[in-house]
Amino acid sequence: MQQDDPDITLITPTSPVHANTHGGRAKCLQRLARLDLPVPRTIALSFKAVHGIAAGELPDMAALLAPFGEAPLLCVRPSSEDPDWGGPGAVLNIGINDARFIELSDKIGKRAAAEIYLRFVQSYAVHVARLDPDIFDDVSEDPSIGLGQALRAYEDETEEEFPQDPAVQLTEVLRSMARAWEGTTARLLRQAKGAPADAGLGLVVQELALGLGEGECGSGVMQLVNSQTGARQITGRYLSQSQGRDALQRGADALYLERDPRGPSLEELAPDAFAHVKAYAALMREKLREDMQAEFTIENGKVWLLDGLRVARNARAAVSIAVALAEDGIISHEEALMRVEPRALNELLHRQVDPDAERDVLARGIAASPGAASGRVVFSAADAQAAQARGEACILVRRETSPEDIRGMHAAAGVLTERGGMTSHAAVIGRGIGLPCVVGASDIHFQPRRKQLTMPDGRVVKAGEMITIDGTNGLVLAGEAPLLEAARDGSFQTLMSWADNVRDIAVRANADTPADAEVARNFKARGIGLCRTEHMFFEADRLTVMREMIFADASEDRAAVLERLLPMQRADFTDLFRIMQGQPVCIRLFDPPLHEFLPTDRAGHLQLAEALDLPLSDVTRRVEALGEYNPMLGMRGVRLGITVPEIYDMQARAIFEATLESSKDGAPVVPEIMIPLVSARREVELVKTRIDAVAAAVRNETGRDFAYRLGVMVETPRAALRAGEIAPLVSFLSFGTNDLTQMTYGLSRDDAGRFMSNYVQQGVYPEDPFHSLDIDGVGELLRIGAERGRAANPDVVLSICGEHGGNPESIAFCRDAGFTYVSCSPFRVPVARLAAAQLTV
Ligand code: PEP
Ligand code: MG
Repeated sequence: MQQDDPDITLITPTSPVHANTHGGRAKCLQRLARLDLPVPRTIALSFKAVHGIAAGELPDMAALLAPFGEAPLLCVRPSSEDPDWGGPGAVLNIGINDARFIELSDKIGKRAAAEIYLRFVQSYAVHVARLDPDIFDDVSEDPSIGLGQALRAYEDETEEEFPQDPAVQLTEVLRSMARAWEGTTARLLRQAKGAPADAGLGLVVQELALGLGEGECGSGVMQLVNSQTGARQITGRYLSQSQGRDALQRGADALYLERDPRGPSLEELAPDAFAHVKAYAALMREKLREDMQAEFTIENGKVWLLDGLRVARNARAAVSIAVALAEDGIISHEEALMRVEPRALNELLHRQVDPDAERDVLARGIAASPGAASGRVVFSAADAQAAQARGEACILVRRETSPEDIRGMHAAAGVLTERGGMTSHAAVIGRGIGLPCVVGASDIHFQPRRKQLTMPDGRVVKAGEMITIDGTNGLVLAGEAPLLEAARDGSFQTLMSWADNVRDIAVRANADTPADAEVARNFKARGIGLCRTEHMFFEADRLTVMREMIFADASEDRAAVLERLLPMQRADFTDLFRIMQGQPVCIRLFDPPLHEFLPTDRAGHLQLAEALDLPLSDVTRRVEALGEYNPMLGMRGVRLGITVPEIYDMQARAIFEATLESSKDGAPVVPEIMIPLVSARREVELVKTRIDAVAAAVRNETGRDFAYRLGVMVETPRAALRAGEIAPLVSFLSFGTNDLTQMTYGLSRDDAGRFMSNYVQQGVYPEDPFHSLDIDGVGELLRIGAERGRAANPDVVLSICGEHGGNPESIAFCRDAGFTYVSCSPFRVPVARLAAAQLTV
C-alpha cells in the first residue's frame, strides 16, 4: 500500500476518507478514530478501488496486508455511501489456516480456534466459492470435530484444497464482495431504495477482535435509546463467545446489557466492559451528533468498538431522538427540524399497523386518509350506526360515499370504497375527520347486495367479518392486524413549537364543522382557510333542508326554506368564530355539486317524497331534470349563486349576523367570504354587489359596523388566466387546486382513481396529480394567476386550499410563489407546519 494512495488507505484521524468516496462505514470509523475510541486497525478501500477489483484489477496484497503485521486475522465489511443501500454481508476470520489454527489453539484454546476456523470455512464456501450451504448439513455442532468434516466437504465439492494463503483468501473475499455489488439483483434492490444507478461500494478491511477465547470474550450491540418509543433506555444484547451480530440472532442465549430483572446482564458479568461501552456510545452521541448503535467485541475483557450505526427508528422515536439531541445542546433546533420527515408525522397522529407484525394483504387501493383501523365489515351507514350502538368497531364499505353516509362514517372506524381518488367525497371527509380511509380499491369485486366482497385472489369477505384497513399505505388486510397507538407526546409538541418559530408561510385548516375546527385549533392552525358550507348540511336531518332548497322552484318556496336555513347557518358560523378565537375564518359560499346531494335510488326518492310531502313521481321527475351529464362542471359554485342569488344573500346575512354576535364579548371578528368556481370578472361583480348590499342592510338594521373581506377561489383555468381583472375586486385569491387540477387535465376527480395507478405505473404521470401538485402544468397556472393578480392588486393575499395544501412539495412551490398561507385538512396541519419550517432552514 502506498502511503499516499487515497483509494487504499489506513484509517487514521487525518487520512483522506470521505463518505462519497469510501462509504459511510469507513467515514464513521474514521470519526471514531478521531475520538480516540478503541477501533481495531482498519484499511478503507474506495469505491474506485472496489470497482477496479470487480473488473480484475487487484491491489498489491502484500502491501495491503503489511499494516496488520504477522499472520493477522481480518474481517471485511461493506461500506456503501448510504447504509440503507445495503451491500454484501461481512466476512470474518480471514487469515485462518492450518498453521495459524495450531498457534491460536495454544493461545485461546482448541475449541475456540476450531470454531473460528470452521466459521471461516463455511462463510468462504458460501460467499466466495458460492457452494450450496447444504453441504455442511451433517457437520458436527462440536467445532473440534466439525472443522475436519467441513474442510473435507469443501474439498470434495471443489476438488481443491481449502486455500491456506491469507493473501489468496483476502483477494478472493474482496473480489467476491466487489462482484456481488455489481450483480443485477443487488443493483435493482438498492435502486429500489433510492440509490443512483452508479452508486459505489467501499470496503473496509479490519483487524479482527476475537470474540472467542479465554477470559470474557463475546460480542454485542448497544444503543442508549429505544428504537420504538425514543425513550432514553439502554437497549441491545451481548453474547459471550460470539462474533459479529450473533447476539441478535433469534434464539441466541444473549444477555441483557443493563441489570434487568428478566435475566442475567453484561453489567453484572463484566461491569467494567459494560461501563466502557456505555461511555463510548454516549461519546458517539455527543460528538457524532446522533444516537448511534455501538457494535462491540470484548476480547479477554478488553472492549473493541467495531462500528457505529445510526440507530434504526420509527417515526415516533425519530421525533424524540431529534428533540432530545437539541435539548441536550448537541444539535440546533433547526437541525432537529430537518431530521424528521414531515410525512412520517402521520405515524404519530394516527394508529398504525405494527410494521413488525405479520400481515395478510387482501387487496390494495389508494391511501386516501392515513391511519389504520380494524372492524367488522358493514355495507351501509345504518349498519355502521347499529354497530356503533352495540359498541362494535366496524369498517364501512361502499362503492363510493355521499352525504348520506356521513353519519355512518362518523360511526365507523374506517372506510373502504371501490371508486374515487384522493379528492373524492370519502377521501376529503376521511382526512377531515381523521378517519382511516382506502378508496378506489377497484380490484376488489364489490357485491353490496350480497353483502360480500370478493378479493383479487378469490377470497370472499362477508358482512360481519373482521378486516383491517391501512389508510397510510392503501392496504386491506385480513382479520385484526396488531396496531400501534398514536403518540402526540411532549416531544411532538416541542418539535412543532420549534417549527412555528422558524416558519414563514402560515398554515390554516380546511374545516367545516365545530369538530373539525376544534381539531384545527388543537393542531395550532392559524385559522380556517376553507369552510365548505355545503358540508355543513351533510348530517341526515339537515340534508333534507338542503334538498328542499335544491328542489324549491317558486320563489316563495325558496324564501321559506332560506328562512329555515338562516338561523342554522348563523349558529354554525357563530360556533366557528368562537372556536377559532379571533383567528381568521374563510367561509366559502355554497358550492354543492348537485349529484352529491340528490338521492340516487328509488328508496332515496321515496324517503325524499315523504319528507317533502310530494308524490314519488314528482320527486323522480325533478331528480331527473336536475341530473347533469357532467355534474362537476355543471350548476356548481358561483353559477348557483348567480342564478339563485337569494341563497348567497342568506349566507352573507348569516355570516354578518354571526360576526356581530361573536364580536360582542371577544375581539372583533373579520370574516372572509369566498366565491367558488369563478371563471369571469362579471360573476364577481354581481356577487360582490349583492353581498355589499346585505352588509349595508345588516349595518342599518343593527346600527353596528363590522368589516369583512371578500375573495375568489381560483379553480378554473380561466380564473387563473384572468386573475388580473378579478384581483382588483377582492382582498384575496385562494387557489382551489382540486378543481383546477381536474379542469387543467380534463380529468374527473371522482373517476380518475380507476385508471390512475395504471397511469402512474406506466410513467404517464410521475404521481397522482390530485395528490401531488403538477408543478409543470397546474403550477404554471398558479404562477400566472399569482403574478397577474398581484400586478393588478399588490395587496391581494394569495393562498392554496386544495388538498395539495398539505403536501410538502406543493408547500415548497407555494412558498416560492410568494403565497401567504396554505390550508389543508386538519390532520395534515402538523405535517404542513413541519414541511413549511424545513423550507426556511
Ligand atoms: C378545490 O377545488 O380545490 C377546493 C378546495 O374545493 P372543493 O374541493 O370543495 O371543490
Ligand atoms: Mg373546488
